[in-house]
Amino acid sequence: MKVKLATSRGFCFGVEDAIELAEAAVATHGPGKVVALGPVIHNKQVVGKLEQAGLNQSGDLETIEPDKVVLIRSHGATPQTMQRAADRGLAIVDATCVLVKRAQDVVMQLHEEGYHVVMIGDPNHPEVKGVIGYAPVTVIDEGSDLEAALPYKERLGIVAQTTHSPEHVAQMIAKILCRPYREVKIVNTLCLEVTRRQEAALALCGEVDVMFVLGGLNSANTREMARLCQEAGTQTYHIETWEQFEPRMIAGKTTAGVTAGASTPEWVIQEFVEKLETM
Ligand code: SF4
Repeated sequence: MKVKLATSRGFCFGVEDAIELAEAAVATHGPGKVVALGPVIHNKQVVGKLEQAGLNQSGDLETIEPDKVVLIRSHGATPQTMQRAADRGLAIVDATCVLVKRAQDVVMQLHEEGYHVVMIGDPNHPEVKGVIGYAPVTVIDEGSDLEAALPYKERLGIVAQTTHSPEHVAQMIAKILCRPYREVKIVNTLCLEVTRRQEAALALCGEVDVMFVLGGLNSANTREMARLCQEAGTQTYHIETWEQFEPRMIAGKTTAGVTAGASTPEWVIQEFVEKLETM
């Protein structure tokens, strides 16, 4: 099988920073002493390695014992969660990505300026759940009934989940602009790292007859990239590792493209490529 790799793929700087902070915290405080509030990143293989190194994980702040260190993951947390951790006397290591922090700051600023803040994103995604803690925000996604979600407000301030595609955000904004708001302020909170990976994946789609998008099935940016490749008309498989590969996926194909989400480590990509080349 001929295999082509996307020029931009895998770990972004936000994920690299979060992993480094987690490793450094475990090295400083010792195995079993640092507890991540939810998975540090959306990649089971990396989270598994960090757990082996002594990083614990809990989805509930209240269950973390006061002598432990709490690690805030790259997706961030609400200010209420940060305050509760401080009130409980927990030491905090904050691994929130700087671009997620920026989205949190923008939401606060728009609210202070008197805009009704709208976030285009998945209401169930941890980043969105964290950002909307910083101000009253209406979250809308593809299926939202704009009429019901956004009754007439004079001034709208719009941001987006960092991992959405520009194309999807533009479509949502176009729908909003068809409604009679007096003022609409849009602040671009999209992550350029994600956009670059999406562009590279789409460029590769034109050169191959099947695409493999590697990354956590719960990773929003990986799912979005797989959706874009599929929409571009290339047969696409979103899988986590070589374990999920099946020979039928390349039946009748000669050239495969490989890319990976921003939380997929290079060793997962290399292992996949090496094995696919032998097929
Ligand atoms: S994908 Fe972008 S926003 Fe998300 S962690 Fe990476 S750099 Fe930060």
